[in-house]
Amino acid sequence: MRYTWTLVTLMSATVWAADSYLVVQLSNHSAATRIEIAGAKSEASRLLSVVGMKIRWVDCGRNETACPESNDPRTFVVSIEEMIPARLVRSLGYSTPLTERANRAVINYPRIASMPGVSVECLIGTVIVHELAHLLFRSSDHGPGLMKVEWSPEDMVRIGQSRLKFSPEQAARLHDGLRSRAESETILALNRDR
Ligand SMILES: [Zn+2]
Repeated sequence: MRYTWTLVTLMSATVWAADSYLVVQLSNHSAATRIEIAGAKSEASRLLSVVGMKIRWVDCGRNETACPESNDPRTFVVSIEEMIPARLVRSLGYSTPLTERANRAVINYPRIASMPGVSVECLIGTVIVHELAHLLFRSSDHGPGLMKVEWSPEDMVRIGQSRLKFSPEQAARLHDGLRSRAESETILALNRDR
């Protein structure tokens, strides 16, 4: 009996560890400073830690070749950009949730830097997490809190105070999305071994 309990505990711990982290390859092609990037990473990590997830950051700087494309479906490519297509200049960020890999997001630095009432660091970090959620949900749909289609001036104040959150349902969906990616990576790994 004790042996069974130990085994179950170990298995649970293993499943949680495999499910609960994602990798973000972050590049900066904007005027964002090192301090702003560090603050943004810290805020994004904090927002996901609240729902039991960890980000492993890979800093790509301005050099794309520093971060080769990964086959791991838990790896996301996020770039902070200065040059944004005209049709998207009013968006704080955008991502590719409906593509096969659903792993890319762009953060619109000039738009973020122009927003009043919130620090650039907090807003970049929050937009990164909003876009990661779209990618994990594989959906461009919006919802309450962190997943609002547009944040009000009051929301911006909450973002600056680290008070905007995921709902419990959104948190569960994040874990579902990451779990299915972890499972597909296991299948890929098994296929590669054959
Ligand atoms: Zn959105």
